[in-house]
Amino acid sequence: PFDVLVVGGGPAGAAAAIYAARKGIRTGVAAERFGGQVLDTMAIENFISVPYTEGPKLAAALEEHVKQYEADINLQRAVKLVPAADQGGEHEVVFESGASLKSRTLILTTGARWREMNVPGEAEYRNKGVAYCPHCDGPLFKGKRVAVIGGGNSGVEAAIDLAGIVGHVTLIEFMDEMRADAVLQKKLRSLPNVEIILGARTTEVNGDGTRVTGLTFEERASGEIKQLELEGIFVQIGLVPNTEWLTDSSIELSQRGEIVIDERGMTSVPGIFAAGDVTTVPYKQIVIAMGEGSKAALGAFDYLIRH
Ligand code: FAD
Repeated sequence: PFDVLVVGGGPAGAAAAIYAARKGIRTGVAAERFGGQVLDTMAIENFISVPYTEGPKLAAALEEHVKQYEADINLQRAVKLVPAADQGGEHEVVFESGASLKSRTLILTTGARWREMNVPGEAEYRNKGVAYCPHCDGPLFKGKRVAVIGGGNSGVEAAIDLAGIVGHVTLIEFMDEMRADAVLQKKLRSLPNVEIILGARTTEVNGDGTRVTGLTFEERASGEIKQLELEGIFVQIGLVPNTEWLTDSSIELSQRGEIVIDERGMTSVPGIFAAGDVTTVPYKQIVIAMGEGSKAALGAFDYLIRH
């Protein structure tokens, strides 16, 4: 059995594994693939101290750094978690293959995924105009025209944020009203370079083969099909935590399905920690996930020396 088993191999998992291994304790990593969402990213310009890198390069560096330590790496998909029967006992993680691993502490870092519109062109133009993270990709659209899809808090926050960087923002909401907090809506409506379209269903991302050139939407009330010309589309219709495999585990999840953690990264089950995009910690970013993963590993180490 391990002292620490990290589930997930993204920025949070890699940081947790390195911090745990450096304590000289038996450390394991189990992940479906190394790199996490970073693998789906191209340009990264906010990884502090590295002005520019690319997703696949950073993912490879994460893996290489972890491999410098004696961490046991298993490329497997976890499907179930069985918490220890008594405090100080071993927790068990069961994998798709039927195999399982046991550990005195766990650090869950299975991340999250952006909800997609699932319309033609979206996948084709991902990172070529279709974006999901305004903090990451906003500056790439300086002075250009963009759309934000979704009028919830994240969509309206993204539109306000982008309006200060890009030339023009069109916010498109499916329902006849936005769900965002009233104060955010008021702020959005006060901005001169923002247009809001309600009751509209985005049906297609248009492009010229290399980049986004616009989008097509249906005005739901009239059924009329319309087009917008623009250079970027920010999809803000939800971030889904990868916690489906934890639903029977007694670990407390928030209403959105995120793992609830305390200030040391511990979940509601003693000895089980979590970090990164899979948790309730706000602002899902690489540097934040790394900091949180490191913190959870130190929390797990602290737990081990006390139990
Ligand atoms: P993830 O990166 O999601 O990693 C999760 C890990 O868990 C993966 O290894 C996955 O394979 C594994 N996993 C999931 N489920 C299971 C399971 N059941 N069993 C085993 N393993 C499992 N952030 C920035 O700071 N700057 C950027 O420029 C930036 N650009 C982005 C662009 C895109 C397109 C996307 C999608 C995200 C971007 N982000 C960016 C956000 C950043 O990638 C995330 O905040 C960060 O990767 C979160 O790290 P994490 O380790 O918590 O989770």
